[in-house]
Amino acid sequence: MVTERNERLQETFGEDVFNDAVMRERLPGKVYEALRKNIEDGTELTPETADMVAHEMKEWAIEKGATHYTHWFQPLTGVTAEKHDSFITAPLPSGKVLMKLSGRELIKGEPDASSFPSGGLRATFEARGYTIWDSASPAFVRHDEGGATLCIPTAFCSYMGEALDQKTPLLRSMEAVNREAVRLIRLFGNRTSSKVTPYVGPEQEYFIIDREKYLKRMDLVFTGRTLFGARAPKGQELDDHYFGTLRPRIASYMRDVNQELWRLGVPAKTQHNEAAPAQHELAPIYEKVNVAVDHNQIIMQTLKRVATRHGLRCLLHEKPFDGVNGSGKHNNWSLMTDDGINLLEPGTTPHENIQFLLILTCILKAVDEHADLLRESASDVGNDLRLGGNEAPPAIISVFLGEQLEDVINQLATTGYAAAAVEEGVLETGVSYLNNISKDATDRNRTSPFAFTGNKFEFRMVGSRDSVAAPNVVLNTIVAEAFRDACEILEKAGEGGFDAAVHDLIKRYAAEHRKIVFNGNGYSESWVTEARRRGLPNIGSFVDAIPALTTEKAVRMFDSFGVFSEKELLSRTEVKYDTYSKDINIEARTMLEMAGKQLIPAMITCVGRIASSANEVKALGADAGVQVRRLGKLTELLLEAESAFEALKTATSDAERMPSGRAQAVAYRDSVIPAMNGLRKPVDLAEMLVDKDLWPIPTYADLMFEI
Ligand code: ADP
Ligand code: MG
Repeated sequence: MVTERNERLQETFGEDVFNDAVMRERLPGKVYEALRKNIEDGTELTPETADMVAHEMKEWAIEKGATHYTHWFQPLTGVTAEKHDSFITAPLPSGKVLMKLSGRELIKGEPDASSFPSGGLRATFEARGYTIWDSASPAFVRHDEGGATLCIPTAFCSYMGEALDQKTPLLRSMEAVNREAVRLIRLFGNRTSSKVTPYVGPEQEYFIIDREKYLKRMDLVFTGRTLFGARAPKGQELDDHYFGTLRPRIASYMRDVNQELWRLGVPAKTQHNEAAPAQHELAPIYEKVNVAVDHNQIIMQTLKRVATRHGLRCLLHEKPFDGVNGSGKHNNWSLMTDDGINLLEPGTTPHENIQFLLILTCILKAVDEHADLLRESASDVGNDLRLGGNEAPPAIISVFLGEQLEDVINQLATTGYAAAAVEEGVLETGVSYLNNISKDATDRNRTSPFAFTGNKFEFRMVGSRDSVAAPNVVLNTIVAEAFRDACEILEKAGEGGFDAAVHDLIKRYAAEHRKIVFNGNGYSESWVTEARRRGLPNIGSFVDAIPALTTEKAVRMFDSFGVFSEKELLSRTEVKYDTYSKDINIEARTMLEMAGKQLIPAMITCVGRIASSANEVKALGADAGVQVRRLGKLTELLLEAESAFEALKTATSDAERMPSGRAQAVAYRDSVIPAMNGLRKPVDLAEMLVDKDLWPIPTYADLMFEI
């Protein structure tokens, strides 16, 4: 029985993907070869070849039931966008139509792009933006309520070739790190690998709640998180949800999610309950980063779509509920050659280990020098509520290496060891340490934002809603830069001086950058003090992280690799301030709506009910002391809520009137958010006093425990 089921999964996996097997089977040999060359080395397709690929892709999609195709792209809104065209041509004289997809239509699209955020890169009057086929990420047919659609993954650029999306810089950064990594391994004598690619496995956390209840809460509908809500009597303190048995409704949901993902070729692998009640996680098997980014988008969309079908709602927000853990996305990252060597794998020979140690210290240098950029790449409005809150890594970037590797780095950095490091044999001490490392991967530190986990780095700061594109653009580029710096020094040393130069460099990088290494408890107060002493940046909010994008060192680095021009960086900065302001504005407006029309009125009704009860009781000559006390408390909260309501209204209108940009975002953070907190406090306290039947929205307990 079990084998039968497994066989079926093997058959259905990737069924709706125009993958290599399908291409090999359906395309004429020459066309297939040309397409492979295009995918592997970017050799351009001739128009004839493109036409043949497009034709076959369309035929295949139609067999799967597709009527439409779409260029699927990832603008700076954080979600994917698509515009659908059907395959039909103009009706023939007979009144019939043909079904067509030309090479040109496959390769290039021109959506009316004027309404996507571009941060001034493209004024509305010159709306041109192009979507360009990313042949390295396979097309797929998506089946949903709207029928079947051929989705063609694309990059999105302006008329002038400026990136308007997440994908373009990612592809550029992959080229940068490939170039520099190949250059580096050549110096170590590798002649066999021809390409180095970043691989990523993003673990996705999410919450599942009941859809009916979800629809009763404006805050969830408009902002994806609760803006009011007293804590439930029970939270996550018993840890009884973590890795617990799945509830039947959730198990059936996950089964459907997996089935859909597998058909789309997404290697969904692991699922379990997470720490908070109603929180879960899904992890796919790692893939090339551009595919992993696309697949993560598909995962997020599938989680949401399937939930609706099950009468559920998936919340991807970083902090849907106060007082329990929020959701993140662990970005597991490694560098792999095309012949299967993981460059982050500690080696088995001294020689390999020297290469590993250089790569490791280069990464320490990259993270130390660009901690601000990494922090920025993981920033979004929701993550501000999570980072540093004793549930996610602090806002301080540091690297966890584990005891053994940290020891190696310290020994390398201290004079005695490093001075002798040139001599043969000494690093072998390091080698024996390193050999243990892969066996000892249980050594985990969940409080570290950037942890070495045996043969990969795990960047744990990313928010659950965010695309993983941005963090990987940063990772790829900063590591490319560190490799380039190292290569420049090592190439100068020449073959004769290579060994000595490598050892010097490892020692220097270890000494200069070990301050970024921290194995202790990242949640502790003492780490904040210690990090300050070490001079590590502690960037408390998204708004304060944004300037990292346009520092002189960032502009110089991104520009030198062609990942971002200064203009593109400035535009992204603008988009981010604007997104921040708009998001907080929606939250504030939603609070005003809920407090004004639902929650304050409920408090008033309750005051009325208590007052009449008090009168009735008094009329009977009995003691109305409790009623009077409750009336007093609730009236006090009502007064506080009403003035907080007015204060929030004023703060919001003031911020709204400001021109968009940094100052406006700062106003939202420094005056609107405190005003929001000011309103939430009395309302949440009132929730605990008002009769359950009068409280107009589902409570935390209703949402998290009744699924
Ligand atoms: P956890 O962090 O929860 O213990 P695992 O270590 O099993 O989980 O893996 C987490 C994620 O890391 C998975 O998506 C997995 O595919 C991915 N992963 C494993 N090895 C690598 C690698 N070499 N490069 C990138 N990602 C990897
Ligand atoms: Mg993890």
